[in-house]
Amino acid sequence: MLKRVLIANRGEIALRIIRTARKLGIETVAVASEPDLGMPYTRAADAVVPIGPGPANESYLVFDKIISAAKRTGADAIHPGYGFLAENADFAQAVTDAGLIFIGPTADSMRKLGGKAEAKAIAIAAGVPVVPGYQGEDQRPEILAEAARGIGFPVMIKAVAGGGGRGMRLVEREEDFAALLASAQREAEAAFGDPRVLIEKVVTAPRHVEVQVFGDSHGNVVHLFERDCSLQRRNQKVIEEAPAPGMSPELREKMTSAAVKLAKAVGYRGAGTVEFLVEGGALGAKAPWYLIEMNTRLQVEHPVTEEITGLDLVEWQFRVAAGEPLPLEQHQITCNGHAIEARLCAEDAAREFLPSIGRIVAFRTPTAEGLRVDAGVEAGSTVSPFYDSMIAKLIAKGPNRAVALERLKHALQETVVAGVKTNAAFLHGLLSLPAFESGEMDTGLIARELDRLNAKGSDPVAVAHGVIALIRQQQRKLEEQRRRISDEARSPWAALDGFQLGPSRKHSLDILVEGNKTTVEVSWVGGEPTVEVEGQVIQLQRDRVTTVDDGDRVFVLHNLRQTEVCWPTYDAAAADETDGEGQLRAPINGRVAKVFVEEGAVVDKGQRIVVIEAMKMEHVLVAPRGGTVGRLTAREGQQVTEGTVLAAILDS
Ligand code: ADP
Ligand code: ADP
Ligand code: MG
Repeated sequence: MLKRVLIANRGEIALRIIRTARKLGIETVAVASEPDLGMPYTRAADAVVPIGPGPANESYLVFDKIISAAKRTGADAIHPGYGFLAENADFAQAVTDAGLIFIGPTADSMRKLGGKAEAKAIAIAAGVPVVPGYQGEDQRPEILAEAARGIGFPVMIKAVAGGGGRGMRLVEREEDFAALLASAQREAEAAFGDPRVLIEKVVTAPRHVEVQVFGDSHGNVVHLFERDCSLQRRNQKVIEEAPAPGMSPELREKMTSAAVKLAKAVGYRGAGTVEFLVEGGALGAKAPWYLIEMNTRLQVEHPVTEEITGLDLVEWQFRVAAGEPLPLEQHQITCNGHAIEARLCAEDAAREFLPSIGRIVAFRTPTAEGLRVDAGVEAGSTVSPFYDSMIAKLIAKGPNRAVALERLKHALQETVVAGVKTNAAFLHGLLSLPAFESGEMDTGLIARELDRLNAKGSDPVAVAHGVIALIRQQQRKLEEQRRRISDEARSPWAALDGFQLGPSRKHSLDILVEGNKTTVEVSWVGGEPTVEVEGQVIQLQRDRVTTVDDGDRVFVLHNLRQTEVCWPTYDAAAADETDGEGQLRAPINGRVAKVFVEEGAVVDKGQRIVVIEAMKMEHVLVAPRGGTVGRLTAREGQQVTEGTVLAAILDS
């Protein structure tokens, strides 16, 4: 068996790997960028090696830093986790060349199957159906445009090296092709260091069904059934489950055997996932199905497979890497019950899912029957702008889908995250959709329901609770002060907490709700506060609200949403907000990837002005109104912080 493994990753996945390593008596070495030092995974490991600054291309993606850390700490193997270097064949080769074991497939099979174009070619040769399209080497824009015309619009542009939905664009109309191609290539280059793309026919109403496979170095390959990951936003998985609801035995048989065939075609070793799209939303025996890609690594959603098979996939990875044969043969692998996973991300669902960066003030997840939580953070952790926004996965298992679903919904309600916003309300809303409950979904479901899923606007109940918490905070401070000062100085008139003095006194208070100035009326009747927000008396709901104090601010959680309430501050940025119409501000800390206009240009409302790249995603900023571009400060390549004014659209 392996003795000591270095984990070339961070957060939740590093902790997941450490857990199994410990069970098997394998020592662990973590690596951490500067902002990650002190994260829970670094403390759980037996040793931790600092590997430099936050940006992944200066730390987690630098081969030499990872490999020399492994050598220095006496590790005999490297587990890449997922993301980062997990699908980098050159890295796998470099690890092997350094005399270490790479926990994953050989560099050769990664080259053959890791790229979408190459995998499709092998699948075609093995008789596995693929999505029709162009996956050629010639990447000249006119050739790609020609291919798109040949396929017929709409088409899908996809990064050959893609993953996590990045570098992918749906092109509805021919006239948009060139611009979307350039943007896909840019994103692909930034995320994967490889701008190559392929063009595909768009599969209508697809279900995303994927098959978990496992191979060893003795020529054995098995499958561990399928997962359904049809709940996606912008082609990125949000909810995953196993087995796929409504899967016909015939289709399961066809897909699992195709997946095994593909893995066998390259002598695949280790964990892998073969992804398919099934056209039309149902998984009947006759539904058309196509391979889209193979992921030559462990996947984010592997826990749902572990829950229904009772197996530990990381343990299998270790055993296979150590040269052992697969622990079980195909007929010994069974599927029991149902499991559903939700990806809890630090993001603001109501603001276009922008990553929510900052310190996590509170983090509590429930313990319950059938519930598994794979988290990467704790209270006090910081969500930095450098990496993925996923902070935890909630996985619920049950004897059947309905029970698993109930358990997961309940777990989301019991989860407390304060300080950063999360997508908890969005996830809960998704799980409650009738189309999801009945299993009649396709990958377009989220986009269709988005408006209904995201509660917008302020939450008066949360505001009311926040105000009361702020007042109590101030009362506590005053009482403390009073305890400290002498009796003579203790005058009732020095105190601000006049709320108990008169039964009907009403105070008008200015507060900031999510940074916006709001006026509320508070009165104290018989020791009980009454709060009016926007002229409405708010019914307090103590048993449905959680408040978390953080210094001068209060985070209020209600209906799985967070509202931040604090006393007004008078900083310049906040004061500037009022004349902000027509201004383009950076929505997030990031890098200016593209500036489309010059100062003085006349633009239409909705025209693209600037692209900010952050957390490996492009955020396109468009003109909020028509006019002339003025005060253009954005420069390509420049790092900007959230709130920076990049341009202003002035009246022409
Ligand atoms: P990634 O490497 O980013 O995971 P995939 O090729 O696996 O990219 O595709 C991710 C998702 O994008 C799919 O699950 C599906 O929802 C959507 N998608 C990809 N290709 C197509 C297609 N040809 N037609 C329709 N949807 C597609
Ligand atoms: P899967 O295909 O396994 O479902 P995705 O395709 O969504 O997973 O992408 C792989 C995962 O790799 C991401 O969800 C994320 O958790 C991880 N990942 C990608 N980039 C980063 C990064 N910069 N920092 C941390 N994790 C990352
Ligand atoms: Mg994929």
